[in-house]
Amino acid sequence: MDNLSRDNLKERIRNAPGNDIVSVISEHLDLQRKGSTYVGLCPFHPDTHPSMSVNPNMQIFKCFACGAGGDVFKFLQMRENLTFPQALERLGLRAGIEVNFRPKREPRTAASDPNMLLRVNNWAQRYFRQKFLDKTLGETAREYCRQRELGDELIEQWGLGYCPDSWDDMSKAAMKAGISENLLIESGISVKTKNGTLMDNYKHRLIFPIIDTMGNYIGFGGRTLGDDKRKYVNSPANAIFDKSNCVYGLDKARHAVVRDKFAVLVEGYTDVIMSHHFGFDNVVAALGTSVTDGQIRLIKRFAGQVVMLLDSDIAGRAAADRALSVCIRQGVDVKAAFVPDGKDPCEFLLSAGEDAMRDVIDGAVDVFDFKWRHLKEEIEADGSTVEKHSSTVDFLRFVAEALAAGSIDDISRGLLVRRLAGLTGMSVEQINTRLERLSGNAGRNMVQASENRQVKSFKPGNSAMEKAVWEIVEVIINAPSNIDSIREYIEPGKLDDIYLKEVTAALLKLYDAKGCDFTLADLLAEIEETELASFLVKLADEGEKKQFYTERIHSAVELIKYNRKAEAIKSAQASDSDQFMQAIKELKDLHKSNGKNLRLDTLDKW
Ligand SMILES: [Zn+2]
Repeated sequence: MDNLSRDNLKERIRNAPGNDIVSVISEHLDLQRKGSTYVGLCPFHPDTHPSMSVNPNMQIFKCFACGAGGDVFKFLQMRENLTFPQALERLGLRAGIEVNFRPKREPRTAASDPNMLLRVNNWAQRYFRQKFLDKTLGETAREYCRQRELGDELIEQWGLGYCPDSWDDMSKAAMKAGISENLLIESGISVKTKNGTLMDNYKHRLIFPIIDTMGNYIGFGGRTLGDDKRKYVNSPANAIFDKSNCVYGLDKARHAVVRDKFAVLVEGYTDVIMSHHFGFDNVVAALGTSVTDGQIRLIKRFAGQVVMLLDSDIAGRAAADRALSVCIRQGVDVKAAFVPDGKDPCEFLLSAGEDAMRDVIDGAVDVFDFKWRHLKEEIEADGSTVEKHSSTVDFLRFVAEALAAGSIDDISRGLLVRRLAGLTGMSVEQINTRLERLSGNAGRNMVQASENRQVKSFKPGNSAMEKAVWEIVEVIINAPSNIDSIREYIEPGKLDDIYLKEVTAALLKLYDAKGCDFTLADLLAEIEETELASFLVKLADEGEKKQFYTERIHSAVELIKYNRKAEAIKSAQASDSDQFMQAIKELKDLHKSNGKNLRLDTLDKW
């Protein structure tokens, strides 16, 4: 693909209505309107107050805490660890624009290319659906669904599928469709047997596709319909799927989660599906038996509270304990509700109905209270003061450990301490002292690593010339009309700083294509590195605060002119003396007219 059509494509993809920066970012976090912009919790650092701002007019985002910033492409690059072409392709798919652009270093068969894996999963989803609907092949799967009262409409809505009871039907079909062996294994569609042949990983299983908040099929969960000891099989971890960072059903639940300000967390796929069917549309499931930090972080982008629906047995209590420490670490409020009669939520809904479930959820108790009540019951049953003391210490140690591992801010910590004081009858001061002693004072300052690529801080070049050109860039991105007057002073080819070279080349390209009529988002679309994009957003911000555009451009241009003369002298010195004297004369004139702004110590030697 040549440059012109690539630019054209980029423009079309960026301007597609569905690719508006607010709608793309709000699939990853809850954005609240604030004046003419939107704010939300930044996904690039452990954020407790909304630090990320998204500007729909400028089509850029910026985090005031960690400095991440850029356009819609950069957001996806950083959030999903994509290269620029991959982000372009992803947003293209979203807008229904086919992107064939693929640089040489990314051959079509390459494993670990997220977009290739998505294509494979799209193919697999079609295969699973087809087999499920097959009159004879799909009968076992359909019968299983009938028994659990999963009607046709629900099955279609949730995209349930079936992988036939065959050793390699799916693997063979995939190879025939041109999918490479590497991709088959990486996506988890096939596994390699000891003698090197491919075997279907989901053989004779009911398939639940796992969809991310952007609507991509990122993985599959397969429930056995036979007597396989492994009841469930999930996609393996790969470039698009990581079980511990996925929440099943969030694609359909996220709006309700934002609306209700809490998510209900269950264990199974069918629990989620049946809950939505009964109108509980904020229900999601953690993949795997215990909830992870990554899953709670994901939910936290949409709401600050989680209600866990648990079995009312010992296992349920243990799950509540684990969830409590994860939620303390992540600064999320957690409640627990217990489904009676040893039933799972799906069974309970079918037997007891909607109102009974509503009562269960409404009756959710704070997990802190729950844990403390249990400790107190034990204390009261025993009666000894020594025992009481050690139970309190146990409780506080539990909280202290969770705090030490997390990134809770001072305000939430203060609220927590006050609640602990209320529960235990100790003073706020006593609790603070104890917590700090128990956690070795680590709780206050520990910051956990973000799950995303860290935002590297970018440092611009530092020579006088580089500073002058950065100054010009800073003005131009705020006031593009000034580019007319400086066009001739910018020579990307002569700059050493590769970032400055890239930015100025992009600016000149925009100028040639659009004149002075371009925006910061236009510039960002030309820049592939996320760190550089973040730096440019920061520069735009600072530049706007400084103002004095004309004056600053003028000084910078004078500096560049001076630098050019000095260079000319350096090169003329050895060769032609007339040319040399001419250059000296010009430089002296320049000195006379603008002396105050320039450092002319080199000139004074002549
Ligand atoms: Zn941030």
